[in-house]
Amino acid sequence: MTRFDDIRLTLPPWCIPVLTLLDAIGEAWVVGGFVRDALIGRAADDVDIACSLPAAESMQALSSAGYTVIPTGIAHGTVTALAYGHPLEITTFRKDGRYLDGRHPESISTASTIQADLARRDFTVNALAWHPERGMVDPFGGLGDLECGILRAVGDASTRMQEDGLRVLRALRFASQLGFSLESDTEAAVHAHAALIDSLSGERILREMNKLLCGQSVGQILRSYPDVLSHVVPEIAACVGFPQTTKYHCYDVWEHTIHVVEATPPEPLVRWAALLHDSGKPATHFMRDGVSHFYGHPEESLRITRRVATRLRMPKTFSEQLCLLVLHHDDTIAPDERGISRFMRKGPWTPELFFTLCDLKAADALGHAPNYQGRAAEAIEMMGVLSEMLSRKEPFGRRDLAIDGNDLVSAGFEPGPDMGRVLRTLLDEVAEDELPNEREALLARAGELYEEHES
Ligand code: ATP
Ligand code: MG
Repeated sequence: MTRFDDIRLTLPPWCIPVLTLLDAIGEAWVVGGFVRDALIGRAADDVDIACSLPAAESMQALSSAGYTVIPTGIAHGTVTALAYGHPLEITTFRKDGRYLDGRHPESISTASTIQADLARRDFTVNALAWHPERGMVDPFGGLGDLECGILRAVGDASTRMQEDGLRVLRALRFASQLGFSLESDTEAAVHAHAALIDSLSGERILREMNKLLCGQSVGQILRSYPDVLSHVVPEIAACVGFPQTTKYHCYDVWEHTIHVVEATPPEPLVRWAALLHDSGKPATHFMRDGVSHFYGHPEESLRITRRVATRLRMPKTFSEQLCLLVLHHDDTIAPDERGISRFMRKGPWTPELFFTLCDLKAADALGHAPNYQGRAAEAIEMMGVLSEMLSRKEPFGRRDLAIDGNDLVSAGFEPGPDMGRVLRTLLDEVAEDELPNEREALLARAGELYEEHES
């Protein structure tokens, strides 16, 4: 008996007619993450339905009833119905065949019962099915594990990890998101099979890592599983226990990193930046007079970040922003208008990205020894200064100037490399209050600058 035994879940109203329709011709259940999250009061993003009907039949029935249905993964028995704009995944009861390559089942065959479908799922808390009239199906003790906060593989943990190496990472990401502990066999299997991560696609790793890094228990997971995470970022291994013999630090590099990750907002960009910001420290370390120095560590961390971004196929903008944050995490910026404006004009900073840099800097400072956390206040002060500058519409980048390249061309100036230099100088002069941000004044000054460039 668990506290969940008599529970009634509240399904989003848009999915009920779909469930009813499929149930009229087959057997349909709400499964997976929605059931798990609803039971523990966590907001779930999407609803998954497991259904006895072949995908083509579900598709036919739903299309006839007027739903838009997309054959998203028909080979795996999955179709997606749009119910009042909400995507709803419907997957035929399925049991996976043997796994040959640690990623893809050799064959997928349909299962005849919901129990058999639940048996192929990864963890007991993910192997629950619920129906408004027929109630809960829980063949593997998922409700008990959910109540105790335990993440346990369905079946033999070691076998299940070897079937699909992604489950190693999924174990850590669910534990991080839900604040759960791994059951001992599952934990042993995660450590034993960490190397399976090496052969996973970058996209699959990235999806799980983004969720892991933003989970409520991320610190606990980073602390307990650096050996596993070293298969995502190999340089983590050298950070664990690496001493920082300076008055500023009271933690080794990895423990400091953990504190910084935990102190940032739960957004993938800043969390990745926190994870990687000091990854270059072990490689750049040297001792002088008994004190640690790490000159050039942001550049080394940048090299590591670039490798990780490429391997995990991070989206281009995300990876460019991540690199910028890592490279500049330790820069000294005067916390006043002039200092911030100058810093931002030196690179492709948007106000939003600069705020993220401040989040990172504040968290970095909080990961220092108690007497050296003052820079956190400075980073927070910078955010205030930038907010004020934004409310006054101060120019930060070329797009904030009252003219652009087209205006210069219309005014008769030659397009070419000089134009970029002229616009940059105009921006600097406007930002330094040497020139008003007005069309006529800017064009006049542009004329002077072109002449200077030519002479
Ligand atoms: P969320 O969507 O909140 O991230 P979720 O549990 O719904 O969590 P999904 O990745 O959407 O996770 O997968 C849906 C369900 O499919 C899971 O709950 C699980 O039952 C099953 N599942 C997904 N991936 C695997 C896998 N690699 N091995 C076994 N079962 C899996
Ligand atoms: Mg899901």
